[in-house]
Amino acid sequence: MKESAERIERLSPQKRALFRLLLDEKRRKGAAQISPSPRSGVDSYPLSFAQQKLWFLNLLEPGDVSYNLPFSIRLKGRLDIPALELSFNEIARRHESLRTSFISINGRPVQVIAPAQTLKIEVLDIVGSVDPLSEAISVTAEEFARPFDLTIAPLIRIKLVRMAEQDHIFLINMHHIISDGWSVGVLVNELNILYEAFISGRPPLLTDLPVQYADFALWQREHLQDDLFERQLSYWKERLEGLCPLELALDQVRPAIQRSRGLHHPFTISSKLNAGLREICRRHDATLFMVLLATFQTLLYRYSGQQDIAVGTPIAGRNRRETEGLIGFFLNTLVLRTNLNGDPRFSELLQQVREVALGAYAHQELPFEKLVEELRPQRDTSRTPLFQVMFVLHNAPQRRLELSGVNLEPFGIDSKTSLFDLMLAMTDSQESLSGYFEYNSDLFEPQTIIRMQRHFVRLLEAVASDSHQRISTIALLTEEEVKLILYQWNDTRRDYDIEQSIHSLFEEQVRRGAGARAVISEAEEVTYGELDRRANRLARHLRRRGVGKESLVGVLLERGVDLVVCLLGVLKAGGAYVPLDPEYPVERLEYMIREAGIKALVTDREVELGDAGSQLVKLKIRSEEIERESSQSLGVEIDAENLAYVIYTSGSTGKPKGVAITHRSAVALIQWANGTFTAEQLSGVLASTSVCFDLSVFEIFVTLSLGGKVIIAENALQLPSLPAAQEVTLINTVPSAMAEIMRQGGIPPSVKTVNLAGEALKGSLVQKIYLKEAIEQVYNLYGPSEDTTYSTFALMKRDERGQVSIGRPIWNTQVYVLDRAGQPVPVGVCGELYLGGDGLARGYLGRPDLTADRFLPDPFSRRPGDRLYRTGDLVRFLPGGDLDFIGRCDQQVKL
Ligand code: AMP
Ligand code: MG
Repeated sequence: MKESAERIERLSPQKRALFRLLLDEKRRKGAAQISPSPRSGVDSYPLSFAQQKLWFLNLLEPGDVSYNLPFSIRLKGRLDIPALELSFNEIARRHESLRTSFISINGRPVQVIAPAQTLKIEVLDIVGSVDPLSEAISVTAEEFARPFDLTIAPLIRIKLVRMAEQDHIFLINMHHIISDGWSVGVLVNELNILYEAFISGRPPLLTDLPVQYADFALWQREHLQDDLFERQLSYWKERLEGLCPLELALDQVRPAIQRSRGLHHPFTISSKLNAGLREICRRHDATLFMVLLATFQTLLYRYSGQQDIAVGTPIAGRNRRETEGLIGFFLNTLVLRTNLNGDPRFSELLQQVREVALGAYAHQELPFEKLVEELRPQRDTSRTPLFQVMFVLHNAPQRRLELSGVNLEPFGIDSKTSLFDLMLAMTDSQESLSGYFEYNSDLFEPQTIIRMQRHFVRLLEAVASDSHQRISTIALLTEEEVKLILYQWNDTRRDYDIEQSIHSLFEEQVRRGAGARAVISEAEEVTYGELDRRANRLARHLRRRGVGKESLVGVLLERGVDLVVCLLGVLKAGGAYVPLDPEYPVERLEYMIREAGIKALVTDREVELGDAGSQLVKLKIRSEEIERESSQSLGVEIDAENLAYVIYTSGSTGKPKGVAITHRSAVALIQWANGTFTAEQLSGVLASTSVCFDLSVFEIFVTLSLGGKVIIAENALQLPSLPAAQEVTLINTVPSAMAEIMRQGGIPPSVKTVNLAGEALKGSLVQKIYLKEAIEQVYNLYGPSEDTTYSTFALMKRDERGQVSIGRPIWNTQVYVLDRAGQPVPVGVCGELYLGGDGLARGYLGRPDLTADRFLPDPFSRRPGDRLYRTGDLVRFLPGGDLDFIGRCDQQVKL
C-alpha cells in the first residue's frame, strides 16, 4: 500500500489526479460498472453528447467544413495502392465508426452502422501536368473544403494525387463526428501494421477491439444519470458560475453570427527558452502545460484587462482501457478558469493554475456539451459559449505513418478555419517546442496575432528568468516597441517662443494690419486696431480696480464683440478670465464666484449675487469710466506661467471644477494651430461655441493670432442666416451640431475646413461632409479641457468608416496608453489615455487633492517636474500610431 502511494507520487500531476479519480470511482461503484461493455439486443444507437452537438451544427449549416479533420502527407517511393486499400478496408471492418452514418428518426438522430463498408482510394493522376505541386495543393484545398453528408457512410474520404510514378500526395479527410486527433493516431498505427502485413504476406498483429464507439455512446447516455456525473456537474457549476466572455480588443467589429473563417500563425521557441521553461516546471512542480497556460492567461489578462480568465482545452477522453484503441469522437473540452485578481506573482498564479487543471482533470467525464446544456449561458450567436479562447498542448508523441519502401514528407496546408476567437496550440517534442496561433479572421488581422505571439514569447522569457514577478508588470513590450510607442510616436517637439502670451500674439497682428476686420457679429464689427484700443481701455480700468497677475475676473456677457473685447482686456490687465454663462442659474454663478475666488466681474446686466457678490468689483462693459481710459497698451509684463483663464468643466461626476490654464499652454495650442492651418483657412472662423467651453479658445485666439476674422454666432445652427455667412472659411464645432447643420443644408460654399471635436465622430458624418464640393479638409480633434482644447488630431479621409481615429498628438504633446498598473499597452490593446506636454493645465483651481489625483508625475520623461494628465478615456493605438477612441473608462466594465 505504501509502495503504491509512493508510486502515485512519482506520477505526473495529471496522471496522479486521474489515478485518484479512478481509485475513487472504483471504491464507489466497483470497477466492472464504470466502463462501456459490448451492447446486446439494442438496435438503435443514440449519439454521444459530443456527436449530437456536431449533428445539430451540421443540420444548421450543412455546408460547413469546420468539423472536417483533414490529414495530408507526401509519399515518395514505390507505393502499393491495392495493399493500401486493403489496409483501409480492414480498418473499416474493425471500426464501426468508419461504417457509421447519421439519420434522424422522428427528429432524433441515431447512428446507423453498416454491416460492411467498402472504402475506395480515389486516385487522381496529374502526371505530366505543367506544375504538379501547385495542382496538388489546389486539389488538396478543394478536398479539405468539401463538406460531408452525415447521412451517407463512410464519413472518411481517401485520395491519392499522383504527381509522378513514385510521388503522391496522400489525403485523408474525416468528419469529426466519427473521429478525433487521437483517432488519427489509431488509424495511422493500424495502417502501418496492416500495410506491412499485406505487402509481406504475414498476418497482421492487431488484437480485436473490445467495444465499439456506439457502446461508448450508449454507456455515456446511461451513466449520465449516475451520481458520478451529478458530482461532476455540481463541481463545474460551482467553478464556472458568473463567467463573462473574454473581450479581447478586435480589429473588426464582431459579426452578429460567428463564422469559422480562420488563419494560422506558426512560431518556434528557442532551445534556450525551452530549457528555461522546463526548469520552471521542475522548480514549481508543474507540468509544461501548466506553465504555458499560466503564461497564456497572463497574456490574455494583459490584453483584455480582465482578471477572470477562462480558457478551453481539449482532453482526449480516453482514460478507459476499452476505448483507447478506438476510432471515434471521444475528445472532450475542459474549461480552465483562473482568477488573476490581486496581482499575484507568476509563481502564485502557476500554483493556482495547477489546482485548476488538476480539478478539471478529475472532473473530465462530463461532456462539455452536457455542461453547456445544463449551465445555459446567455445565448449569444456571436461567440462560443463558456470560453472563447482555446489552449492546446500536444505532447503525446504523434504516431508517424510508416509505409515500407516509401519516404514521407510533410505536406500541410492551412485549413483556414478557426472554431474559436483564438487558439494557441503548442507541440512539445522534448527537444523542441513549437506552436501556432489559430484565429478567427473575421476578428483579427494577421499583424495583431503576430504581435500577440511576440508578446507571448516575451512573457515566457520573462517568467523563465524570474518567475516571482507580479503578472501586471512583467515586461510585455519589446525594446523596439517601447522606442516606437513611447518615444518615436511622441516626438512632437517644435520650438517656438514660449515667453509669448495670448494677447501679445494678437498685438502682433494689430501691428501688421490694424485696419483688418477682427470680429464680426450680427450687430457690429471691429477692426484689429479698434479691438485693441477697446481692450486696452478695459485693461487699464481693470488694473485701476486692482486686477493684476493671477487675479480672476468673471465674464458674464452675451455673445458679441464686447465679449472678445472683455477677454482680451482681462488678459492685457494681466488677469485670468473665468467665463460665466448668462444662462446659468444664479446659484451656479454664486457657487463659481465663491469657489474660484473671483475678484471682479465684467458684465452687461444687473445681477443679484447675494453673499458671493458683496466682495466683488462689478463693472459694466459699456461704461463711461472705461470709455475715459486711454487706449494705449498698458505693456504689463506677462510671465508665460501666469494664468490666462479658468474654465469650469462639469466632469462626468461630481461638482464642477475649474481647469486653470496658463498662457504658456494656450500659446502652445495657438502655435500648433498656426503651423497646421494656413492664414487662408483661418481667414473667417465661425465662433459659435460658448466661451464656457474651450473650443472657443481655438475659435477666438487662434484666429486673432493669424489675422483672421472671428465671425460670432449665437450657435452653429445660425450659420446660414449670418450676414457674414459667405465669409466663413472654417467651422469648429461638435459632430452633433455639424450633423444638424448638414441636415439643414446650411453650409456656405466659402467653408473649406471643418474641425470636429468634443464627441466621438462617425465616418458616415465625415463622408457626408466631404460630399459638399467646397470642403477640402475635415479634421477630428480630441482633447480634454485639462490639456488646453486639443491634444490629438487627424485629417479625415473621404471614405472614413465606423468610428474614426483621433489621430496623433499635436506639437509638444505626448500621449501614453497605459493599463491599470500604469504599464504601456501594446498596439491594438485598450488602455487609458494619459497626456503630457505643454498643454497641461496647472491643475484644478483650489483643489489640490483632485489635481494630485488626475495630474501625476510623468514616469517616461527625463525632465523633473513633468506631469501626465489621466484622461479617463479609453483608447488604443492603431498599427501606424494613430489613436482609436473607444469610450469613457467609467462606462466600461473592463477598466
Ligand atoms: P471637455 O474636457 O469638456 O473638453 O471634454 C473632454 C472629453 O470629451 C474627452 O475626455 C473625451 O471623452 C471627449 N472628447 C473630446 N474630443 C473627442 C473626440 N474627438 N472624439 C471622442 N471624444 C472626444
Ligand atoms: Mg475639450
